[in-house]
Amino acid sequence: METHFGYYITGKERTEEISTTEVRCTENHDHIVHPKQKFCGECGAMVGPVTVTEQRTLWYDDIPDEDITDHLIFPEYCDAPAGEIIAVSNYGAGGLDIDGHDYNEIAIDNLEEVKRKHFEEFMTKHAHDIELLKKYVYDDVEIKYGFVSYDY
Ligand SMILES: [Zn+2]
Repeated sequence: METHFGYYITGKERTEEISTTEVRCTENHDHIVHPKQKFCGECGAMVGPVTVTEQRTLWYDDIPDEDITDHLIFPEYCDAPAGEIIAVSNYGAGGLDIDGHDYNEIAIDNLEEVKRKHFEEFMTKHAHDIELLKKYVYDDVEIKYGFVSYDY
C-alpha cells in the first residue's frame, strides 16, 4: 500500500465510438459466416459489408507523442468507483509520498504555505500533462489536495 499526501488528479474515463466495416450477415451481425459465403447459413440473409460500432474506453496511452506514464502514476485503485481514474506525480512533486516505512510522523505548522509550495511544484511539473489528459482521454479532470492510498 502506497500513501500520498498532497496534490493528485482525478477524472472520469471517456469512451469513443469506433466504426469498422466488416463482412457479416446483414440481418444479424452475430451470425457466424465465412466472408466468401453469399448467404448466411443461419438465417439465409445476404452476407456483405456492414458497419460495426463498438464503444472503446480511452486511456493515457492514447495521448499521441507523449510518454505520460513517465510523468504520472496511474495506480490500480482497487476500491475506486468504476470508470474513475486517479493519478499522482511520478516525481514526488506536489506532495509527500510515504512508502514502505513502518513509521511516519509529519507535523505541518503552516498548511496554507505548504499547500502553496506543493501547488507550485505540482503545476511546474504537470501543467502540460494535465492539459493532455483533459484534451485526449479523461473527462471532469480535477486537481485535488488531500490524502490518497493505493495499491501499485
Ligand atoms: Zn444471418
